[in-house]
Amino acid sequence: MAVVRRLLAAASWREVFLRRCRVCGDPIPPGAAGAALATAGWPPRGVCPACVAALAPRQGGFCPRCGAMEADPAADPCLCAACLIEGRPFAVVAFHAAYGGLLRDLIVAYKFGRHPEHGAVLRELLLLAYVRARADRGGPDADTAVPAEPDVVVPVPLHPARLAWRGFNQSLELARPLARTHGWRIDARALARIRDTRPQSTLSGRLRRENIQGAFAADASRVRGRRVLLTDDVMTTGATVETAAKALLSAGARRVDVLVLAR
Ligand SMILES: [Zn+2]
Ligand SMILES: [Zn+2]
Repeated sequence: MAVVRRLLAAASWREVFLRRCRVCGDPIPPGAAGAALATAGWPPRGVCPACVAALAPRQGGFCPRCGAMEADPAADPCLCAACLIEGRPFAVVAFHAAYGGLLRDLIVAYKFGRHPEHGAVLRELLLLAYVRARADRGGPDADTAVPAEPDVVVPVPLHPARLAWRGFNQSLELARPLARTHGWRIDARALARIRDTRPQSTLSGRLRRENIQGAFAADASRVRGRRVLLTDDVMTTGATVETAAKALLSAGARRVDVLVLAR
């Protein structure tokens, strides 16, 4: 029926056969597939030039270990003060772009179930973010700036009560094609949320850390000696992924890398 409606609504036959953008639904002008831009991991297929521009990956101006943003997106990669001083439970955080604009709108609409169809493009952005992080990230300490090839992919879990309410765990669903494409095992039971915490988005930095403390437990039989790729949709202050990464390390994980859509 959708096809018939499109035929009736189209101003001309030419419009009927134009490809539509997977994000905004506008027709994609012929030849505007972004061929000039195409490099490893960007742009995604079937996205119009305006959406490609609005969803452009962040290519500079962030800490090569934790992804903390600097003001200037063109700045050279440089370890942030927190990574220099404190050390981190994870090796590298790879991400697609800063949390804002169209990317934020897509994530929010997908996560709260209003537009499940946005999942397809978000899943692809997550996959491309990993491909780019492997291909072209290399700072002063290239070894620590590149995520490892994982033995297992572990999504940040939701508490069972929240999972029942939402119906799906976005961190798990977003990571599926990434794992499938690379032939990696994805293990949603390696890490459990043992405490139902208040949503982190309602709290400020210090309170987020207190709120999330002791919220995760990792299953040693599933992670001991393994390199883990921990996935989530968004990482803001980092309190959630840090707590999750610590739980994985205490259960014997050899290394934890983090992959998120937005930072
Ligand atoms: Zn578009
Ligand atoms: Zn850092």
